[in-house]
Amino acid sequence: MIRKSFRGEIFFYFIIVFILFTAAILTFQYQREKRYRTAQLENTLDNITEITYRFIEQNNLIEKNGLSRIGEIQRIIPQSNIRITVIAPNGQVLYDSSADYRTMENHLQRPEVQKAVQEQKGANIRHSDTTQEDYYYYAKKYPGYFVRSAVVYNVQIQNFLEAEKAFIFFIVFVFAVIGIILYIITGKLADAITKLKDFSIKAGKNELVEPDTRFPENELGIISGQIIRIYHKLKKAKDELSNEREKLLNHLNALNEGIAFFTPDKKKTLTNRNFIQYINIISQKSINETEDIFGIKEFKKLNKFLKKNLAGTLPFQPDDLPQLEYIISAGEKFYKIQSIVFIDHSFEVVITDITRLEKRRLMKQQLTSNIAHELKTPLSSIKGYLETMLNNWPVAEEKQKYFLEKTFLQSERLTHLINDVSLLNNIEDAGELFRFKPVDLKSVIDEVYENFANRMNENKISFNSEVKTETVIEGNDSLLFSIFQNFVENSINYGGQGISISIRNYHEDEKYYYFSYSDNGSGISEEHLPRIFERFYRVDHGRTREAGGTGLGLAIVKNAVQLHKGEISIRNRPNGGIEFLFSLAKK
Ligand code: ADP
Repeated sequence: MIRKSFRGEIFFYFIIVFILFTAAILTFQYQREKRYRTAQLENTLDNITEITYRFIEQNNLIEKNGLSRIGEIQRIIPQSNIRITVIAPNGQVLYDSSADYRTMENHLQRPEVQKAVQEQKGANIRHSDTTQEDYYYYAKKYPGYFVRSAVVYNVQIQNFLEAEKAFIFFIVFVFAVIGIILYIITGKLADAITKLKDFSIKAGKNELVEPDTRFPENELGIISGQIIRIYHKLKKAKDELSNEREKLLNHLNALNEGIAFFTPDKKKTLTNRNFIQYINIISQKSINETEDIFGIKEFKKLNKFLKKNLAGTLPFQPDDLPQLEYIISAGEKFYKIQSIVFIDHSFEVVITDITRLEKRRLMKQQLTSNIAHELKTPLSSIKGYLETMLNNWPVAEEKQKYFLEKTFLQSERLTHLINDVSLLNNIEDAGELFRFKPVDLKSVIDEVYENFANRMNENKISFNSEVKTETVIEGNDSLLFSIFQNFVENSINYGGQGISISIRNYHEDEKYYYFSYSDNGSGISEEHLPRIFERFYRVDHGRTREAGGTGLGLAIVKNAVQLHKGEISIRNRPNGGIEFLFSLAKK
């Protein structure tokens, strides 16, 4: 497509106006000139017919049959090429200066003659076949005949133009001057327009546009400058907005929740990665489009909620926006689905993975009832012993001591239990409260050994630790102490007599130390191993109670290991006894 420049267009119209104007003036001039010439011609021809008439009358040419003398007039009048004809009232040609009148046809019907019949004189312009030229015929009626004179009619454009040359030059000159002035004026306008055009093309292509383009100081320039300033303001706002959007998106992607925002007609405007991932897990289909959420049966409740609230067109009140919240389970996982419809009927959907929370809630629920159950046993024993004493009062001193000792043991158990429960709770819920500092594991193990040395001696248990000094990790000393304390206590309580305990630091890498704790005692039958780290899980209830165990020891161990960014597993040793393999992060 050829684009016309603004200036080109103005000049195009200017030239058209110029041509039309010149043509109009020339036509007008030409018409006037023609009228003037015609009048002049008619005047001349009238004079000539008059002269001819007088000449005929004075010389009595009609009677003398001497019309051919008319040729003499032709020789004395200044106009050359004048044709003179004398016609009888009946139309018969009596004389003609340029042809043989005897052979000429009757002239009564000639228009000029007809007019002369009616109005004494008449004129007509006609093409002559004889001379191939236009003639101006003028006929006048005299008593007894018509005199007609004719002359070549030459009021032609060419001649006229020739005559008007100066005038045409003048007009062209005036237009040239106007053209130059126009050129200068349009130059200024065109400058603004060209710059504005360049700007719009660049802006359209999203290319960099100079903010300080200079415009001429006319109205168009001011408008153009203003347009560019507005454009830059808008662009800045848009850039800032897209920056903010980018930030928001990064923020959304960093969130654990899956979030998506939708328009009132359910088209997504913004979403994060988790959102798609969660709807994939929930639907167990591979879904790529955020909008597909509305076709998944697990989100039926959401659809119902949206259907109800998106139907109307009235805006919602800011403090009364429709909200939805419900929990769905997908396999092992639990998700909370939330949705809010905003004032303008756009809405958001938030999916939160609450598996951990939900599991924790269930576990806590179970734990609470377990704790209650566990507390009941020592408490009812204490109550029982005290009741027996009170009901049988006075009780022999010997018996009193027996009952009090039993009561004391149960209260010890209670303390133990409460300590374990609160330790576990602390690790789970407030792990960050445990202060971490460099801890030398060798000294921790030595301390545990010293604590249990007597009981180990009593049970003939040998203890061997290969953990070297300077096995230092960033950790919490009392939790690390609990880990080894629980291991050793369990070996003493459940392993049997004469066994040996061994602790090794069997591997180490950049991040972790890997340890093995084992004894060669009675071990645990395989079916119990998967659940051995659960709270209150015991292999043999009777024996455990007897040993004063709470069933929380290994749960504490596992949590303590995890708080040190490690992992733990348990296995039976081929030749009897059990082995724990666990890692602890160095930092
Ligand atoms: P508790 O605090 O009652 O000892 P734990 O969680 O420490 O509870 O241990 C759970 C169960 O694992 C115990 O009841 C015991 O039967 C078994 N157990 C733990 N350690 C050993 C071991 N070294 N040898 C044999 N059985 C063990």
